[in-house]
Amino acid sequence: LQRQLAQAQKMEAVGVLAGGIAHDFNNLLQVTLGFSEILLEEKKETDPEYRDLQKIFQAATSGAELVRQLLTFSRKVEPKTVPLDLTEPIMQIKKFLNRTIPKMIDIRINVSGDLAEVDADPTQIEQILMNLAVNARDAMPEGGTLTITARNETLDSECVKCHPGVSPGDYVLLAITDTGTGMDTGIVEHIFEPFFTTKEIGRGTGLGLAMVYGIVKQHGGHITCQSDVAQGTTFKIYLPAIRRKTEPVTESSEEMPAHGT
Ligand code: ADP
Repeated sequence: LQRQLAQAQKMEAVGVLAGGIAHDFNNLLQVTLGFSEILLEEKKETDPEYRDLQKIFQAATSGAELVRQLLTFSRKVEPKTVPLDLTEPIMQIKKFLNRTIPKMIDIRINVSGDLAEVDADPTQIEQILMNLAVNARDAMPEGGTLTITARNETLDSECVKCHPGVSPGDYVLLAITDTGTGMDTGIVEHIFEPFFTTKEIGRGTGLGLAMVYGIVKQHGGHITCQSDVAQGTTFKIYLPAIRRKTEPVTESSEEMPAHGT
C-alpha cells in the first residue's frame, strides 16, 4: 500500500509539473521550431549552416513530441467506459501489429470464446495494449514470440493473497508475454515510475508503463509483472468482470451488496 501511495504521489507530482510548465515550454519550442523552419527555407542545402539548422529543427520537434506526451499523461482523462468484450480491441491491435512488427516476431492471440465483458474505455485499452506490445517488440531485437491472452479468471480469498489490495471476485485477465531480454528485479521495481527508462535518449520517455498503470487503476484493475532475464516478461492485467448476462439485473439487485466483498 505504501508503494502504491508513493506511486500515486509521484504521478500527481508529474501531473502538476507537466500542467504547470509544459504549456509555457511548448510556446518556447514553437518559437524555436518556427524560426528554424523559416531559416531552413531561406538557406540552400549546400550552405554550411543548413545541417546545424536542421539539427535545431529536429531537436525542437522531438521536444514538442515529448511535451505532447507529457500533456496527455498529466491530463487525467476520465475513462469513457462501455460494456466491452476485450476481443475487439485485441483484434484492432493485432491488425496494427501485423503491419508494424518485424516478421521475425511471431504474434499469437489466445482469446477464450466465453470472455466476460468489462466496463472499459476501448481507446484506453488499445493504448495499454499498444504500449505493452511496443515494449515487447523492443525487448526482442533478434525475434521471438509475442502472445496476447484474454480469459476469465476468478480470484478467491486464497488467490488474492498474492495480489495485495485486490478484492476476491470475477475478473478478465489480459496477459502480454514476450520471449525477450527480460529484466532483473532491480529494474522491475521501478518500471511503473514516470520517466524510468533504460532506453537511449530519444528512444524512450519512461512514460509508457506509468500511463498503463494509471489507466488500469482508473478502471479499478490490477497489474503485475513477472520477468526473468534472458527468458522474457509477462504483464498481467486483471479487470473486474461485469456480471454475466444470464444473471437477472433489476433495480433492486443493483443496490444489493455484492457477494464476497
Ligand atoms: P520506455 O519504453 O519509454 O522506456 P516504459 O515506461 O514503457 O518506458 O518502460 C520502462 C522500462 O521498462 C523500459 O525502458 C525497459 O527497461 C523496461 N521494460 C518495459 N517493458 C519491458 C519488456 N517487455 N521487456 C524488458 N524490459 C521492459
